[in-house]
Amino acid sequence: MAGAGPGGCAAALALATAGADVVLVHRERPSRLPVGESLAPTARPLLEHLGVLDRVTARGHRPCYGSHSAWGQDTLTAQDHVRGPYGSGWHLDRRLFDSSLREAAHEAGARLHSGSVTAVVRTGDLWRVSVSGTEVVAPYLVDATGAGARVARRLGAGVLPTDHLVAVAAVLPGARPQSGTRRGGTERVSLIESTAFGWWYTAPLPSGHHVAMALTDPDLVARAGLRTPTGWFDALATTRHVHARLAVRGTGPPQRLSVVRAGTSRVLPTAGAGWVAVGDAASATDPIAARGITSALATGIAAASALTARADGDGQALGRYADLTSGVHDEFLRARTACYRAGRRWDTPFWTRRTD
Ligand SMILES: Cc1cc2nc3c(=O)[nH]c(=O)nc-3n(C[C@H](O)[C@H](O)[C@H](O)COP(=O)(O)OP(=O)(O)OC[C@H]3O[C@@H](n4cnc5c(N)ncnc54)[C@H](O)[C@@H]3O)c2cc1C
Repeated sequence: MAGAGPGGCAAALALATAGADVVLVHRERPSRLPVGESLAPTARPLLEHLGVLDRVTARGHRPCYGSHSAWGQDTLTAQDHVRGPYGSGWHLDRRLFDSSLREAAHEAGARLHSGSVTAVVRTGDLWRVSVSGTEVVAPYLVDATGAGARVARRLGAGVLPTDHLVAVAAVLPGARPQSGTRRGGTERVSLIESTAFGWWYTAPLPSGHHVAMALTDPDLVARAGLRTPTGWFDALATTRHVHARLAVRGTGPPQRLSVVRAGTSRVLPTAGAGWVAVGDAASATDPIAARGITSALATGIAAASALTARADGDGQALGRYADLTSGVHDEFLRARTACYRAGRRWDTPFWTRRTD
């Protein structure tokens, strides 16, 4: 298993629970910005299936009751998770969430191996995988390295981008307490607001701070004034709802910005002889859908089933997995286009690229 994010951990946990001998290669990321922190309620049955719902959600996270969005209009529309079948979602401490999943996989029997996968060679029916100077030998290989799909690309799969969206992100101090909000003055909903150059997103973090980001295309970052903390902060101040949420007048610009790749892309194929790709390494989706973690858990579970069936002699199992992930990505692309069409209010490059 190359990569120990949600996709790799879900696959490792499911396989180890089924009795497979699993090596989970984990590469530390020293100073990770807390992006990818909203976990949709639809993750609940997946975490239950993995037997870790209480364990990974009990401590350190906060409930997310839904989202508010000014999308295609000036005013906010509320989407309330609590009315849905799975109840509230979560605003995650993402580092804690990932490490809880990793620990669960380890306790189920997966062996953790620190380092980076740097080379992969097929010898007969076995993979010889170089991990930071050591070698791991295995009959099956899972690429869970995230959107870079580092293993699948080495095996000849292609990464097909739909767009090159980036998030220009920062962490800001929490809002001033407002009356009528839940939990110590913090509104526990995500907030989205579209603008001519893209859209803004903010959500409360369990730490009490807020993550805030502007989503746009790389060639529009400078034009939108987002290259410097001061310019980013000025652009944020022109928003209506995000600005009101963050009460930024009382604070200064963030000390630093992080530019994070957030584009939609797929890998073709997502499986081959003796290997599969899961999570973002199979299909990376626009954060507007807030479904990346859920999808990583789902594909990790589906890949574990496919590999188990393959090991039991089902020669079609990995092909069916590839067809499944491909069909789900096609469905996502249709939903993404519909979403941007619904949000279009400007004939600016960001919106015409996604809707014409
Ligand atoms: C700006 C932004 C906002 C987002 N917001 C949300 C959100 O609100 N909700 C949501 O559900 N999703 C969100 N996502 C998406 C979500 O973060 C991802 O879909 C999810 O993390 C995918 O999980 P993964 O396990 O496939 O990959 P990752 O979480 O990327 O994990 C991959 C792991 O593989 C490791 N790795 C990479 N290369 C190697 C190598 N060569 N050897 C060994 N290990 C390697 C990495 O270090 C990493 O630990 C967002 C993404 C972005 C960019």
